[in-house]
Amino acid sequence: MSLAEKRLYYHDSYRTRFTGVVTSCREAGGRWLVRLDQTAFYPTSGGQPYDTGRLGPAQVLDVFVEEGEVVHATDRPLPTGEAVEGEIDWERRHDFMQQHCGQHVLSASFERLYDIDTVGFHLGDEWVTVDLDAELTWDQVAEAERLANQVVWEDRPVYARFVTEEELAVLPLRRPPKVDEDVRVVTIEGFDHNPCGGTHPRRTGEIGLIKVVKMERMRGGTRLTFVCGKRALRVVQARFEAVNELARRLSVSVEDLPAAVEKLSQEAQGAQKRMRVLQDQWLDLRAEALVRRVAPEGGEPPGRPWVCEALEDVDTADSLRGLAQRVAAREDGATVCALAAVTGERVSLVVVSRDPRVDAGAVVRAALEPHAGRGGGNPKQGQGSAPAGPGTDASAVCDTVRRVLASFA
Ligand SMILES: [Zn+2]
Repeated sequence: MSLAEKRLYYHDSYRTRFTGVVTSCREAGGRWLVRLDQTAFYPTSGGQPYDTGRLGPAQVLDVFVEEGEVVHATDRPLPTGEAVEGEIDWERRHDFMQQHCGQHVLSASFERLYDIDTVGFHLGDEWVTVDLDAELTWDQVAEAERLANQVVWEDRPVYARFVTEEELAVLPLRRPPKVDEDVRVVTIEGFDHNPCGGTHPRRTGEIGLIKVVKMERMRGGTRLTFVCGKRALRVVQARFEAVNELARRLSVSVEDLPAAVEKLSQEAQGAQKRMRVLQDQWLDLRAEALVRRVAPEGGEPPGRPWVCEALEDVDTADSLRGLAQRVAAREDGATVCALAAVTGERVSLVVVSRDPRVDAGAVVRAALEPHAGRGGGNPKQGQGSAPAGPGTDASAVCDTVRRVLASFA
């Protein structure tokens, strides 16, 4: 039997049941590798993944080509020399037929319209991609998508056959064959001839719909992600639901969605701007209160020019830093301001110094080390954090900072 005769899927993509004789079976890594005298199982090749299904009582987990032969990886051994009934998972096979044929139609459309070649094809579990060897615009892609779907609706016949060298010489193939003998050509009548070993439907109408969902530029080329048939319906349904849900939440029609989102984003920007102003004002007031507490108005000049405080009303490192900078910048403020606060699951520490004796970065490093924290900075400003936990809250970190500062006094 020739190679072409042994692979039943070459001749009939719709054949899901067959009988084959086990010619060898050996164990490998907890699976059994089974070869048959003939098979309808498609092995991973040409961008199309393997079929699944069963061989007699065994589940087929993987199918691949090894030394020119189709190998079925199964979950149990099969007796050599005996015939087994094979059955292919039709849902999976048919999905691959829709995607693979859709790829031929789409690639041929790019060739027809723009003379652009397809240099890569990958049929994944969820998405299908083609790599085209030119940089495209989305408008060009949309035009090719229109042509491809036109070819689907024209319901053109699709047939695959092995061709002789003479036929090969005159066929206007879209791409040259990758094999030297047993060249199989898949033809979409009046539209495309392409060498291919994959499984295809009888007519383009069975592809249903071709929908490009993403375009990425890459190294002088373009990668398109697309889906066909049942996958395309699933994707369209999911996106339709998502868009409907957004419109419902914003209480507008789907048509008014872009304008509503634009309005929302402008409102958010305005709110952010106002929030920053309020945050600044709050930090100014908070810094003033802190300084007053250390050196009450009308009292003695500051007895402690160094401030070290654990704060409960600050919850971001940014606010902590803003506050420490303000305290240190004030004429009546502290020459060293160390502030600690719980920020999420960590205790953050900021030290700002305008005292030449105190290196703020060094204080942060020394104070956080016993708390298994990390940080650093320069002589004027340091910042870091330690994981909050037993023995490490804002007050405990402040106590450590005071001990470190005492060594500078
Ligand atoms: Zn193909």
